[in-house]
Amino acid sequence: MTDWRSKESKYYMKVVNRQSIVIVKGDGTRVWDDQGKDYLDFTAGWAVNNIGHANPVITEAIQSQASTLLQTSNQFFTIPQLQLAELLVENSCLDKVFFCNSGAEANEGAIKLTRKWGKINRQGPGQIITAYKSFHGRTMNMVAATAQPKYQEAWAPIPTGFIHVDFDDISQIKEATNEDTVAIMLEPVQSEGGVNIPSSDYLKMVKSWCDQNNLLLILDEVSTGLGRLGKLFGYQLFDVEPDVITLAKGLGGGVPIGAFLCNERANVLEPGDHGSTFGGNALTCAASEASTRFIIDNNVPANAETVGGYMKAQLDNLRLKHEIISDVRGIGCLIGVEFSADIAAKLLSACNDNGLLLNVTGTNLVRWMPPLTVTKQEVDEAIEKFDKALDIAKV
Ligand SMILES: *Cc1c(COP(=O)(O)O)cnc(C)c1O
Repeated sequence: MTDWRSKESKYYMKVVNRQSIVIVKGDGTRVWDDQGKDYLDFTAGWAVNNIGHANPVITEAIQSQASTLLQTSNQFFTIPQLQLAELLVENSCLDKVFFCNSGAEANEGAIKLTRKWGKINRQGPGQIITAYKSFHGRTMNMVAATAQPKYQEAWAPIPTGFIHVDFDDISQIKEATNEDTVAIMLEPVQSEGGVNIPSSDYLKMVKSWCDQNNLLLILDEVSTGLGRLGKLFGYQLFDVEPDVITLAKGLGGGVPIGAFLCNERANVLEPGDHGSTFGGNALTCAASEASTRFIIDNNVPANAETVGGYMKAQLDNLRLKHEIISDVRGIGCLIGVEFSADIAAKLLSACNDNGLLLNVTGTNLVRWMPPLTVTKQEVDEAIEKFDKALDIAKV
């Protein structure tokens, strides 16, 4: 049998310590490795496979589009792009959309739009307030926006134009705002930075601060969009209407697509301002349209809410048995389990052995983020595997 691990060390840049599993196939919440062993996949490609692996609606959309038209560039009109644009705009508080290929790229586009808006409406200010423990992507500007030292130190000089404040503290936003400030960019719930949930009125207070000071509110919904928190978009959960949102991860259901959307107030981009060769191509848009339509038509966010709530309750129960669990927090199908010791790596490999895939962020926190179509039975099975893995990892 081919040794894929040694091929990786020979040929691929070592930018990540992979789990020692070669995944070859997926179906719903389950994946299989090259030895035929099956796993419950509660990572979902990092909150991407929102309607499960190999969902027939995505497969069929890709197959039919692939045999018709893949790519034309934005020099022409294409139908899947406009169908997806209509679907997203008609189901959100935003009015216009632009498609790109990833989350970082969506955020870059949102920043360009914001800076131009500032030049037109605010005599040129361009500073954007972002939060510590945020995660906005890996391009240089997004490294600057992402206020975590581990994502910045090695890449100095870092682009300027971002100011950092503590998440969930409106007073710091008020203090940091000055005449150069043009926007505030936040995740509705910080995901990679540790599953941090703000107080229920935080985003509302930020929005009214933006309105009072003529600033734009940008919500990075790359992780939270498309149902992850139990609503189609995270902003709905907090009852605010942002000026700009960015999407990626769950938007394509597995194909690489990103988007930024804005309301009429922020709709300032003109011909020549922005572009993308692959952005909005027919293939990814057809897949994304099928996935997004499935999410809306089947009320998948409601399943994320109920099964996610059940999952959180089961994890809370495990706290009674395993004192090493110091916190369980999350909304919908984005749940973090925190430990009082750095057992995450050891726990992950015990989970792998038991056939459960989870994601680690930090040394003492694991994220549960299954497909939003996950069932209670699958959660029960995962909890049992996790329980056994904890017995092994905590000693
Ligand atoms: C993953 C993520 C990004 C970056 O997305 P990429 O597709 O990896 O560029 C940006 N923001 C948030 C909130 C994310 O979770």
